[in-house]
Amino acid sequence: MPYFFEDLVHRYRGGGSCPCGRNHAIGAKDVLVGRGVLESSATMLGGEVPAGGCAWVLSDERTEEAAGREWKRHARGIRLVSKILPGEPKPVPTIELVRALATEVRAAGPSVIVGVGSGVIADLAKHASHETGVPNWAVVTAASVDAYSSATAAIRVEGYHRTLPTAVSEHIACDLDVIAKAPRELFFDGLGDLLAKIISHLDWKLARLMTDEHYCPVISEASLGSSRQALAAAGHSPPTRFRPCARLRTRCSRRGSACRRWADPGRRPLPSTRSGISGR
Ligand SMILES: [Zn+2]
Repeated sequence: MPYFFEDLVHRYRGGGSCPCGRNHAIGAKDVLVGRGVLESSATMLGGEVPAGGCAWVLSDERTEEAAGREWKRHARGIRLVSKILPGEPKPVPTIELVRALATEVRAAGPSVIVGVGSGVIADLAKHASHETGVPNWAVVTAASVDAYSSATAAIRVEGYHRTLPTAVSEHIACDLDVIAKAPRELFFDGLGDLLAKIISHLDWKLARLMTDEHYCPVISEASLGSSRQALAAAGHSPPTRFRPCARLRTRCSRRGSACRRWADPGRRPLPSTRSGISGR
């Protein structure tokens, strides 16, 4: 079954005109989804790293176990510089840590930064890429995140999480065998992100009516398509327990109005609809 994002990547990779009248651009060049993707991703590294060069690979102890070790095993013949952060306690994506990692990247002089992980590791790798100018790849370990191709990263600055402009991952590898083994609660985090796009769709239409905001039917339908696929998949899941349901509700309310920034990064949600969503 084709995935909805394949059409988007085909349309907008490197920039393309849209029926909505605007040009959109997707920074990701390759998005691999399926079984055996760890191997196919790692073998593509040869096209990115010249002879004598290296790749700098960031993971933590958990994501190294989940995917990093196997991905590296398939990257035969290419020099890898590994940085494995502690798994417990979980790394905190502070700007200080980003800068420390960026210093290590500059010392290693890689052709590419590879982040093996989901939220925190992906954001750290993307922002170290932004700081150093070295392109980055994402090797996904959980479906909890919908921001691998986002041009922003959630980084803690002076004690507060900030959404900072950052470097998009040019290569995204999602091995379904890895995703299937991720903790169940991370699945619900991702499901909440996807279901929130239904609310985002309504919010966008409301903004179009009230403020004449630009509306892109292609992106809107793609977002709805992801929600529909997630709902269909959830129907085949085992019965849920209370805790993951609470995570799902929290994730939906947190992300409800945030999903359209890809189309209009400068746009803020309507205050009235945002508070209405969060209150449920
Ligand atoms: Zn458009």
